[in-house]
Amino acid sequence: MTTKRQTLPEMHTDLFINGKWEKGSKGMRPVINPATGETLTEVSRGDKAAFERAIEAAKQAFPVWSGMELRERVKILHRAADLIEENADKLALIMTLEQGKPLAESKGEIQTNVDNLHWNAEEARRIYGETIPAPNNHKYEVRKQPVGVVGAITPWNFPSNMIVRKIGPALAAGCTVVLKPAGNTPLSAIAIFEIFEEAGLPAGVANLVMGSASEIGATFAESKDVRKLTFTGSTEVGHVLYEQSGKTLKKISLELGGHAPFIVFKDAPISETVDMLVKMKFRNNGQACTSPNRIFVEKEIKEVFTKELVAAVKKIKVGNGQDEGVVTGPLINDESRKTIDAQIKDATEKGAEVLIGGGRLMEGEYADGFFYEPTVLDHVTRDMTIFYEETFGPVIPLLTFESEDQVIEMANDSDFGLASYVFTKDLRVAEKVSNALEYGLVAINNVAVSNSETPFGGMKFSGLGRENGKQGVEEFMETKFVNTSYF
Ligand code: ADP
Repeated sequence: MTTKRQTLPEMHTDLFINGKWEKGSKGMRPVINPATGETLTEVSRGDKAAFERAIEAAKQAFPVWSGMELRERVKILHRAADLIEENADKLALIMTLEQGKPLAESKGEIQTNVDNLHWNAEEARRIYGETIPAPNNHKYEVRKQPVGVVGAITPWNFPSNMIVRKIGPALAAGCTVVLKPAGNTPLSAIAIFEIFEEAGLPAGVANLVMGSASEIGATFAESKDVRKLTFTGSTEVGHVLYEQSGKTLKKISLELGGHAPFIVFKDAPISETVDMLVKMKFRNNGQACTSPNRIFVEKEIKEVFTKELVAAVKKIKVGNGQDEGVVTGPLINDESRKTIDAQIKDATEKGAEVLIGGGRLMEGEYADGFFYEPTVLDHVTRDMTIFYEETFGPVIPLLTFESEDQVIEMANDSDFGLASYVFTKDLRVAEKVSNALEYGLVAINNVAVSNSETPFGGMKFSGLGRENGKQGVEEFMETKFVNTSYF
């Protein structure tokens, strides 16, 4: 069933440097709708000189922004949040067109932006320092000050929120920013910058550059003026940026891959748990670093759980995110489908069984997009690639366990340590398992790991630093000790 589909609204397609929209000198890059294969528009690509000008603009704007009357700064952030809310339908449409997720999900992500920005605007008023008991004739003071210019690099899976959850706290802290969005999804970034402009952000406070990812990354990393680098993306690129940034010893936050365990103990209510698994797994078609990727089910309930799961997965409608009733959209590109094909092939060759799905969707309405069948794989074992490699797609790998200690050991057998999920009514088990899991996020009997108020981030190869919560703003602050004595 095809509802009336909308086309891309009028919008800028250029770089935004020092308060002005400008064409890049490196030509244009097409933006593709992954549901139809169509080119939506083309956006400008800048060169190294443009990236350096953006950094310089942010440097010049830093004293203006950090020195602005706090109430005025806070007001601009609240205004930006209000404008995002007013323009929610347009922003959601742009996101669905370039990224593929269902419109309802895009709207949810835009609403998260509104909440994140209001939260950070409020946090700007609560950046407290300390005084510490001192010897006579001294005053020990700890002051919090913004780090300066921030370089931000964001991915395509949450093309709007990944930007706001970085720029929001950076601006709240008093920092200025240069953002490089993902090449696949620059339009959501441009739309947010149109709003920053309308909200009255002074020139140079937030700058947007598109172009060669490796060139921009290296320019940020090697610039002494960029005092903080914040990145969300693959662990592979995270390693590169961490190493490159060593030369300038800047502060760095890395939100990298995940491979979330989803642990179901035998006393968990099966239908409710299956519902939560399906909801979380097919959100953004599994293209999330928090997506449940290894499902451990206790032996006693495994058969019933699997039956209910397959029945639920069967009902999932895949399609164009603009069409009514669609639960999950396409993958971002054909490369993604190849990775998933390879993981499934490796698993089935080693004894896994495909219970439903397992291949590309290529016919009829799916012919021109990058669609994949919702898939359940049973009898997954540790010798399979899918046990260790992040799955960025609609695949549910099932494993069985027989004891608490066994499942803790298996769940922790991963280089990643971002999100984890535990389902049980037994408080003792919940306490023991949540303590033992080497993950930055643990959800017990729910799947909500990301909120404006709470710190989001991972351990091990999932990265460094935290976003959201009061910790999110702290990432953009320096701590200064001031010892004053009196003559
Ligand atoms: P994903 O799997 O989400 O595409 P990537 O790490 O490839 O993860 O991409 C995340 C962001 O990092 C994107 O904006 C991408 O353009 C950018 N990126 C890719 N390679 C580099 C690099 N060498 N240096 C800096 N940024 C990069």
